[in-house]
Amino acid sequence: MTRISRVEIIGGGPAGLYTAILLRRLLPSIEVRVTEQNPQGATFGFGVVFSDQALEFLKKDDPETHALVTPQMERWTNMTLNLPGDRIVIDGVGFTSIGRLALIEILRERAESLGASIEMERRVESLDEVDADLVVGADGLNSLVRQSLESEFCPSIEYLNNHFAWFGADRPFDTLTQTFVRTDKGALNAHHYRYNPGMSTFLVECDDATFQRYGFASMDERESVAVSQEVFADVLEGASLITNRSNWRQFPKLWCEKWTSGRYALMGDAVHTAHYSIGSGTRLAMEDAIALSRALAAHDDLEAAFAAYQSERAPIARKIFNAANTSAHWYENYAERMSLPPLEFAYEYINRSGRMDLERLRRTAPNFMKRYESQGG
Ligand SMILES: Cc1cc2nc3c(=O)[nH]c(=O)nc-3n(C[C@H](O)[C@H](O)[C@H](O)COP(=O)(O)OP(=O)(O)OC[C@H]3O[C@@H](n4cnc5c(N)ncnc54)[C@H](O)[C@@H]3O)c2cc1C
Repeated sequence: MTRISRVEIIGGGPAGLYTAILLRRLLPSIEVRVTEQNPQGATFGFGVVFSDQALEFLKKDDPETHALVTPQMERWTNMTLNLPGDRIVIDGVGFTSIGRLALIEILRERAESLGASIEMERRVESLDEVDADLVVGADGLNSLVRQSLESEFCPSIEYLNNHFAWFGADRPFDTLTQTFVRTDKGALNAHHYRYNPGMSTFLVECDDATFQRYGFASMDERESVAVSQEVFADVLEGASLITNRSNWRQFPKLWCEKWTSGRYALMGDAVHTAHYSIGSGTRLAMEDAIALSRALAAHDDLEAAFAAYQSERAPIARKIFNAANTSAHWYENYAERMSLPPLEFAYEYINRSGRMDLERLRRTAPNFMKRYESQGG
């Protein structure tokens, strides 16, 4: 067990809060503090999806957290593609989801109940403010820790061409749904799914040419909502889109060669991103927390714990990072693919990460494959 007595965690998102929980469970003699810039009850975004195994990884090692989170989750076993002229159900592709805020509130309460001290509404402006034996940079994509020590962590960051805006919708959808529409200004896509019985995430995406033709860059949130509601009126069926810092962005592919330096360790979105189209960023962040906490519990000295953390975790995260990027690149060209017959489009969609072979698809999605193969696919 490592000989540290104070840990400061910068960032109270899934990575930071789950690290606080695990450190208090595994190493109760260590004082753990989390500093979060947002006030309690506020965060960016709406719901997040998890792939079909959901949070099963929590079940064995942390049944208490698992038991708190799972009742708040929505689940479904099929997904739907709405295409111009066809609606295609892909069976056997299950997902679960939860509101980002609901997840954070559960984790925060649990971390506090285990004795972590959590300070909300304070932004750490400089690493000089932080007095601890170990500082965890769980401070998300724009990580202060990473940016302050860039030459140590060696990040590379590259932006995708597509633009997206993360809205909510005040209606539930039956399954995770991808709606692709053609308009006179270009093709748009929405990823939408319910994350509680009355609310859904509604993430709108388009390529740069479409983005420019719509003039989204000069619109405020209200105007973007009005246009998006009109474009997706058929699927919204009268529901309203809702904003929460829903500015248009381009997704960054971020990867750091080094995850630790001196007394600092990065995790979650601070050290790698994973494109939202494979629904893995939150899980990756929580698994980073597990790997770091276990390494600290297993090693006397911080350097050895850090070496174990990076060598165990980085190769696994890298695989997901690569798969997420392959999936993200598929989205960069969906407009061209929309000229394919709908079933062909759906087949390409489900194969976009290159992780499905024909046999696996026949097993997982027998009804979809029957339809696809009966039409000569
Ligand atoms: C559009 C979009 C859709 C997504 N959809 C999904 C999805 O469906 N499924 C999924 O699993 N993942 C999804 N993700 C990814 C997921 O949101 C992230 O991977 C996950 O939140 C990473 O957790 P984290 O704790 O590392 O970072 P974050 O959740 O970003 O948390 C970092 C926290 O640090 C705080 N902070 C930052 N700097 C400071 C500072 N200096 N001082 C104090 N506090 C600070 C922030 O306020 C924030 O609360 C999506 C991401 C985006 C952008």
